[in-house]
Amino acid sequence: MWQVVGQSKLVSLLQRSLEGEAVAHAYLLVGPPHVGKMTLALDLAKALNCEASDPPCGVCDSCQKIVLAKHADVQIIGLTTNGDSVEAKPRAEIGIDQVRQMQHSASLPPFEGRYKVFIINGAELLSNEAANCLLKTLEEPVGRVIFILLTTKDKFLPATVISRCQRLELLPLAATEVEAALNSRWGIEPQKAKLLARLSHGCLGWAVSAAVDGDLLQQRAEQLKRLLDVIGANYEQRFAYAAQLVDQFSHRRESVQEILDLWLDWWRDLLLVKVGCSDTITNIDLEATLIEWVRGFSLAQIRAFINGIQAAGEQLRENANPRLVLEVLMLSMPRREEGVSVKHA
Ligand SMILES: [Zn+2]
Repeated sequence: MWQVVGQSKLVSLLQRSLEGEAVAHAYLLVGPPHVGKMTLALDLAKALNCEASDPPCGVCDSCQKIVLAKHADVQIIGLTTNGDSVEAKPRAEIGIDQVRQMQHSASLPPFEGRYKVFIINGAELLSNEAANCLLKTLEEPVGRVIFILLTTKDKFLPATVISRCQRLELLPLAATEVEAALNSRWGIEPQKAKLLARLSHGCLGWAVSAAVDGDLLQQRAEQLKRLLDVIGANYEQRFAYAAQLVDQFSHRRESVQEILDLWLDWWRDLLLVKVGCSDTITNIDLEATLIEWVRGFSLAQIRAFINGIQAAGEQLRENANPRLVLEVLMLSMPRREEGVSVKHA
């Protein structure tokens, strides 16, 4: 059974290729973080080497070894998946040595399975040298060797590499799909499954991590509390908070983007509550707070600040001066007038 949740079109396509013995020699799996790229890649590796009649069975010796990362013919290369360590070295790359080792291994026949499968996680992090080196291998495919490149951003990969791969795009799942999977496969109780499904934005892997690692939800709660404090704060306090974010940005950019994403969810929820669509909000555990807070803002204020957050995120990604971007964002955040009900949109 394929372990990846959703992505039924891609699974059918791969199944047809397997049945017709028309498997591509290289695939590029593109999709947001935690959407299931690695799960799908491992499913394919299992299916290619499975000993049962309905591959990937998940239980035969070969499938089990792949699950346990003990199969001699299935290798994963990439940076460590821990975001902190990658961010600590902003120029961290998958180097040419890793690619050369992989090429050497690819030149030898499969050791215990039918296919050699090389999974390159975070392919956008390949150095130019490494990507060029890989290109040579992709241009001269060898029988029974399959490369699977995983990336969140294929625009950072050379077009020459992309053109040698079959591109498969994984789309975020519907919240209901994530919720059902959390419930049935991971045994998460319904209310929590519903919340995690909404917060995950269709990326099941994130929801599963948050279910087992309580820190993620705890951090979210702290960040949201911070946000609510800042909304009620004066300019001096807002500038102080902007300075903290700038400092954080210099150490770990990604974490500031995550905070902005959290804010975007919160302000989008306010907008939804304002226009009477509460049933589609993300922060379902905070619905009462949202209803209480929404009275302090007009529709125009909420909309304008949502645009402001989006613009700030874009500017940070484009390497604008973080201090300027974050200070402007802090200044443009509408202040909540306690106990005041804004009647005009
Ligand atoms: Zn199997």
